[in-house]
Amino acid sequence: MSTPITSTATAAAGSTTSDVVLEIDGLAKHFGGVKAVDDVSFTIRAGHIHSLIGPNGSGKSTMINVLTGLYDATRGSITLLGKDITRTKPHDRVSAGLARTFQNIRLFKELPVLDNVMIGQHSRTTSGFFRVLTSPSAAREDRATRERALDELDFVGMGGASELLAGGLSYGRQRLVEIARALATDPTLLLLDEPAAGLNPTETEQLDVVLRNIVRRDITVMLVEHDMNLVMGISDHITVLNFGKKIAEGRPEQVQADPHVISAYLGTDEAEDDDAQG
Ligand code: ADP
Ligand code: MG
Repeated sequence: MSTPITSTATAAAGSTTSDVVLEIDGLAKHFGGVKAVDDVSFTIRAGHIHSLIGPNGSGKSTMINVLTGLYDATRGSITLLGKDITRTKPHDRVSAGLARTFQNIRLFKELPVLDNVMIGQHSRTTSGFFRVLTSPSAAREDRATRERALDELDFVGMGGASELLAGGLSYGRQRLVEIARALATDPTLLLLDEPAAGLNPTETEQLDVVLRNIVRRDITVMLVEHDMNLVMGISDHITVLNFGKKIAEGRPEQVQADPHVISAYLGTDEAEDDDAQG
């Protein structure tokens, strides 16, 4: 008997019915009277570098914090790979395939680079970080964790730095370690909060290459970034926030030409009126 269904089924194996990785609908985060994120909806497609841009204080970091569960959403929903994660715990979102880096680098500066990358994975492996020290099965898992961490350091070009103390590295190299740590958790969607901030042009160029290589691994990227050369050169899609609201979205050339975006960045009329009411 033949099995005619198999060939078509394999093409879609492991993916949902569409190519949507993340869908947010009417998402809001208010801090008292401050509407940091206010009724924002957008969709991130698989294989895209989707940038989220906007002036300082427009709600970009808050968006990442709500997506990862560091903050509870005030309203709205977050759907990752077809699954509603709006109310799930941060570590369950990591298990579901969400990873991030922070606007302010968060590494254990007195620990070696390798340990910093391994620590990220322990939220995903069965053994907690401290149990690794005592149990044989945890130690075995630890070897796999170590291999993976070394692989990810190689991937970001930091393979030679694994035994160095994180705190001794340049800012740009610390950023790469953070990215390796996030990648080691095996994300479907990687959220990066201003990864180019504080980087020199050479480091930014290196970051650009790393981001492109990440997408080649079928990892989707949401990039929050102020470096417009990087953003405009690398993004498939851009969403623009201003005062917590989405004011534009589209391909880089569309967004760059959008009068709302230009006025938000130049701080002309509209933006100043809003500010005065704020
Ligand atoms: P961006 O990352 O775009 O610069 P943020 O998301 O950091 O902007 O901030 C958006 C707004 O939310 C700002 O007005 C900021 O002061 C406010 N905000 C952010 N986090 C908090 C918080 N934990 N408590 C109160 N207000 C906050
Ligand atoms: Mg920010």
